[in-house]
Amino acid sequence: MVNVMKITDRFRQLITKETRHENESNKMTVLLRILSLVLLLFFVIMSLGFFVTGGYSASAGNLLLAALFALIFFASYILRKSPLIWCFIAVTALWAVSMLWLFGPDSGFQLLPPFVILIFFFASYDSLSRKVIFGFCCFIVYQGLSMIYGNRAPALSLSPAAHNCVRDCNMFIIILCTCIAAHAFSKDSLNLENKLIEYNKRLKAKANTDPLTGLNNRSMAIDYLQDFVKKTDEMLASICICDIDHFKNVNDTYGHDVGDLVLKAVADAIRKTIGDDGFVARWGGEEFFIAFPGSNGDVAKDLLYMVQSAIRKVSVESSGQVISVTLTYGLTEYDNNKTLTENLKDADNNLYAGKQKGRNTIVF
Ligand code: GH3
Ligand code: MG
Ligand code: MG
Repeated sequence: MVNVMKITDRFRQLITKETRHENESNKMTVLLRILSLVLLLFFVIMSLGFFVTGGYSASAGNLLLAALFALIFFASYILRKSPLIWCFIAVTALWAVSMLWLFGPDSGFQLLPPFVILIFFFASYDSLSRKVIFGFCCFIVYQGLSMIYGNRAPALSLSPAAHNCVRDCNMFIIILCTCIAAHAFSKDSLNLENKLIEYNKRLKAKANTDPLTGLNNRSMAIDYLQDFVKKTDEMLASICICDIDHFKNVNDTYGHDVGDLVLKAVADAIRKTIGDDGFVARWGGEEFFIAFPGSNGDVAKDLLYMVQSAIRKVSVESSGQVISVTLTYGLTEYDNNKTLTENLKDADNNLYAGKQKGRNTIVF
């Protein structure tokens, strides 16, 4: 087991070994090494197959291709990326010619131009016009080869079954190599895209979250309300703005840091009590906003009683003293005939009325 891991590690090191040249990404080189090894193995197997069945010229041809891909593999430790790609393309072209020569046009060689174009387009930093010219040249070569070998009898006369087997093996290996190359090229952009999506999510969450309490912030609350109003013309909802009573005294007596702890504890209590029944945000300073979608004023008021009793249990200790606070709540049913600002004003007016009444109360 340890040996297998050691060998795998060695192999990985060999494949991913840095190129000798500075300022050159080795991603493409690694891909060409993998493709060369896959093709080397393929041609060795094919060569053995032909040898056993008496197709000595095909066996020699396949062995030559295996040797050329082995050369490319070793050259990848010496050559720069660009000549290496050209060598790979040249040997692939030789592969196409040998397929045509030995097995005729029905050899699956048609899959090679797209494969080579894929490698060239993704691997080189050439301009688009050069890449298009390359694609066009591939087409010309393809047409030329088809014309030359289209009407000639294949050098190797195989039985239909053997011919189909060789063609399918060739097609399989070209498709496999195309898949490997496509995966290598798409993997990075997919990773990058996922990273960007994650980053955007985090950025959005940060922009919508109040850093002290972890609640939604005011702008998120406005977005929520605007969305809610758009979606639900007829739907019932209640909204509440609540404010900690005499909070300035907490700051003045125990300091701003302790005030922050109280704010966090109050926020936690509201969030836990409301749970999935509503939406909670820090409206600003020591004010909080709660929305109760689908709840009329009475239902919302019952939930606010629960919040009130949860707040009663909130206590923060400072210098041996236990600090507890109360809140005043301004509640209103959302009126679809009024604007969002007017509805918020109604809730604010009720909050103000609650403060006038002596605080620690719910005004609806
Ligand atoms: P009332 O019952 O009328 O609401 O009285 P109050 O003292 O709570 O209201 P006031 O508006 O006079 O004071 C609010 C205080 O809240 C003043 C401000 O320093 C404090 N405050 C606002 N944001 C924060 C904060 O993030 N952290 C801390 N510690 N204090 C804050
Ligand atoms: Mg206050
Ligand atoms: Mg206030």
